Amino acid sequence: MGGIPVDRADSLGKACFNAVDLQKNDRTPMMEHFDFDLFVIGGGSGGVRAARMAAQRGARVALAEAGGVARLGGTCVNVGCIPKKLYSYAAHYAEAFEEAHGFGWEVQPPKLNWPLLKSNRAREITRLNGVYLQLLTSAGVQLFEQHARLVDAHTVQLDARRCSAGNILIATGGWPSVPNVPGREHALTSNEIFDLEPFPARLLVVGGGYIACEFASIFNGLGSQVIQLYRGEQVLRGFDDEVRDFIAAEMRKAGVDLRVKSGVSGIERTEDGLMVRLNGGDSATVDAVLYATGRAPNVQGMGLEAVGVAQGQDGAILVNEHYQSSVPSIYALGDVTARIQLTPVALGEAMALVDHLFGPAAGKAQRGMSYEFIPTAVFTHPNIGTVGYTEAQARSKFGRITAYRSDFKPLKHTLSGSSERTLMKLLVDDASDRVVGLHMVGPDAGEVVQGFAVALKAGATKAVFDATVGIHPTAAEEFVTMREPVREAAAAAP
Ligand code: FAD
Ligand code: NDP
Repeated sequence: MGGIPVDRADSLGKACFNAVDLQKNDRTPMMEHFDFDLFVIGGGSGGVRAARMAAQRGARVALAEAGGVARLGGTCVNVGCIPKKLYSYAAHYAEAFEEAHGFGWEVQPPKLNWPLLKSNRAREITRLNGVYLQLLTSAGVQLFEQHARLVDAHTVQLDARRCSAGNILIATGGWPSVPNVPGREHALTSNEIFDLEPFPARLLVVGGGYIACEFASIFNGLGSQVIQLYRGEQVLRGFDDEVRDFIAAEMRKAGVDLRVKSGVSGIERTEDGLMVRLNGGDSATVDAVLYATGRAPNVQGMGLEAVGVAQGQDGAILVNEHYQSSVPSIYALGDVTARIQLTPVALGEAMALVDHLFGPAAGKAQRGMSYEFIPTAVFTHPNIGTVGYTEAQARSKFGRITAYRSDFKPLKHTLSGSSERTLMKLLVDDASDRVVGLHMVGPDAGEVVQGFAVALKAGATKAVFDATVGIHPTAAEEFVTMREPVREAAAAAP
């Protein structure tokens, strides 16, 4: 899967549930010895969804969120997807102002009001925290605004009390991980970047993954001079190679000073800002340094070792296909299991777990979580949208693959003056004619690819794509009008 290592996705893909698992009525009598049927630790994407759905099934549910109501919704709502997308929208206005002239608009030079953007974002996040609180309380979930840790297989320690539960779910998410570089105390992570004061006229970003590329694009759009350093050959390892090259070129065209095979040897505060020494011997002076070098599972102080919960690399909780840890009454899902770190994955896992523990909702089939064909977007400027296999993965998995590719100047840019281009790519398994990979770099790629993800999930063939009528004039119609392969059968990608 583009951006999602295919070996991981493949092994997770075997996690199909049997519809014969324990139903609520099988479990309820055992649970009566406990304060709760389910105790959820962590009020983020996965935890809130699991707590709410379990309570709606009639289970007695509690949820502990260390950050209280002000952190309900977890990473995604507070310091992740939502504020990031709001800032991405803000940054896109810069292009809109620049391009408006070609469409006849006389625009005064615009100026960013950073404090206003921050306070509007904060107001919206507070509103969302309230929505999450309402969802929990109306479902009957008991909320503890406290840190929780395990005491034993059925007991959770809060500040001043202990609670017992038939099942415990750990959904404590992840935390930014910063390498031990001299001067690391001067570095920011995605946790602090949203409230940075003052606005960084010069920003240095370390990393080449989702967060690094998104924030390099966002701050470049908002008006910072951005240097991005990536240690490898090309950013966004795990994505289709042509997509990686294309987005790197577009980000550079947009103004990001993206340097590959580069890193930091130290950071020092000087009168003129932060002096960052680079591996090659050069240095750069900037106002802020953002480290976006991955996230580690949030398991500190949880008491996992004492209770015997098995952990993998970086402390990730190891679970089976039912999200059950090595201690049968303790479950874990979402980022704390360090598998696929996306909000819709945590939500899907939560719903599958609730069906497994308490039975499906009345009249509904038992839900499982499929890890095949998970679509994803990177909110760079322009966006990346992707579903299915990269070309290299598809060739190694299916053997004979035909690749279709289109790289064009979107209609809008015939007048806008922008030199931004769009890339679209389809990968077809020759044996079955099935489309097994679909990739886009261009405006609203995530919106476009979400729809096509349904087609790939349903097993659509290239013949079905060809028989689908386009919507004209759109960029998305290109996906149903690609007729000439760029590479056939076993030919390798450039
Ligand atoms: P979290 O949402 O991290 O929730 C865990 C919660 O547990 C936290 O609120 C924490 O305070 C609480 N907690 C931790 N320990 C304890 C304890 N001991 N007791 C009580 N509470 C505790 N995903 C996307 O799909 N799309 C995006 O656009 C996207 N953008 C992102 C941008 C950024 C900058 C980041 C950092 C992440 C982004 N993600 C995105 C990933 C997404 O946010 C995560 O995959 C998702 O939030 C994981 O949900 P979770 O429930 O596993 O954990
Ligand atoms: P990623 O794993 O995506 O990227 C981490 C980056 O940091 C990689 O480029 C990695 O390089 C680099 N890196 C790791 N360690 C070091 C080091 N010691 N020194 C220098 N560079 C290093 O993590 P992110 O932090 O960007 O994001 C975490 C996860 O959150 C993502 O994987 C994604 O699942 C999720 N997310 C999703 C978003 C979305 O859906 N749009 C947006 C943001 C986050 P290398 O490739 O060489 O290992």
